[in-house]
Parts: sequence; structure tokens; C-alpha cells
Amino acid sequence: MRSIRPTASIFQYVRFANVSYSPDRLAACAQAIAAAGRKLGAQGLTPATSSNFSMRIDAGHAAITVSGRDKGALVDEDIMVIDMDGAPVDTTAQPSAETLLHTQIYRRYPEVNAVLHTHSRIQTVASRLFAEDGVVRLEDYELLKAISGHTTHDTHLDVPVFPNTQDMPELVARVEAWIQADKPLYGYLIDGHGIYTWGRDMVEAERHIEAFEFLLGCELDMRRLRS
Ligand SMILES: [Zn+2]
Repeated sequence: MRSIRPTASIFQYVRFANVSYSPDRLAACAQAIAAAGRKLGAQGLTPATSSNFSMRIDAGHAAITVSGRDKGALVDEDIMVIDMDGAPVDTTAQPSAETLLHTQIYRRYPEVNAVLHTHSRIQTVASRLFAEDGVVRLEDYELLKAISGHTTHDTHLDVPVFPNTQDMPELVARVEAWIQADKPLYGYLIDGHGIYTWGRDMVEAERHIEAFEFLLGCELDMRRLRS
């Protein structure tokens, strides 16, 4: 396994570019993102270079995975800096096409510091199965307590399913409409595509994605067994 320790190149880069974010914070974000990638990749959540991960560096910057890289084997060069408009900062690297979905969450929720997006088989099948309803209702599961703010199984959580599109502003608008309607949002599915979820730190974001993966898997099993 390759080291994800920050390399001299990151520090040189920041020094020469004279940018405003902390190189130490960037290095810490890069380490946490790579570690999350190894864990989620090993669980089969990031097939074929899909998925993307990010962390907030500060109020104006985020670290995000470069498009097209193997998310299970990320190195420093696979993580780049963007501003909160999704524009690359002092790099010619291209971030994920879905960068605006990350910055939307950082702008909307100041307490969020990590965003994870994966494309597992369970997430993809669930998104297709529930696309017509536009929502997956998760109810009476003990593991709902893994989602922040839930202290009992005796509750429900609605995970919206938005239509897939390559038009990111359109997708951003759909997410925004859900938030504007005052509906709680801890994560969302995109039809035929995957899931987005987040947390106050990477530990919480990983717990959320693992919980959603498990709960969506339960819903699929229940459908199968009842049919
Ligand atoms: Zn995606």
C-alpha cells in the first residue's frame, strides 16, 4: 500500500502559489480522504474509478478527489483544492464533474466538513427500484441510530431519490428544493447512480455511508423475500 503521507510537492505547491489555505489542513484532509477511499473501496463501494470524496479545508476551500482516479488507492496527487464555487485552485487538474454537489452541501451546512459519494451495487439497485416513488423510507431499524440526530429505532428517515442527469445545476436545484421544503436531509440517492452523504467529520460521514449501505441492503432484501 502506498503512503498517503503529504509529500514535499504539496508543500512546495502551496508555498509557490502563495495561496490562502493551510497546507497542514490540506495534508490532513488528503490523508483522511485517502484512508476513507481505501476503506470504502475495500467494501466494494467505489467500482471502476467511480465515486468522489471531499473535505472542507476552510470557509473558502475544499479538498476533493481528482476525476477518474482509483478511489481505493488514492495518493496525494489524486486530491486537489477547489473553491466553494467548485473551481480548481492553482492546479490544472480537473475535479469530479459532480463537484457542485459537494460545494452545495458545504455552503448549505456550515457544520459539515466531509462529503462522500459512492456507487455501490446496493445503492444503484435501490435508486432504480425507488426512483418512481422519489424516496426510500427507512423505518424501525436499530441502525437508524447511526445517523446523527436519531436516538431511537422508533422513527423514520426519508432518503430522496433524484433523477440522474449530467446537468449538475439541475441536480443542485433538485437538492435545494428538498432543503427549501424543510425536509430533513442526511443523504440522497441519484437514480441509477449512487448516494451522497456527509458528516461533521470524516468519521461521521463514513458511519453515515456505511449505515445507508446497510439499511438500503435491508430494504432490497425485504422486497425480494416478500415477492
Ligand atoms: Zn457519481
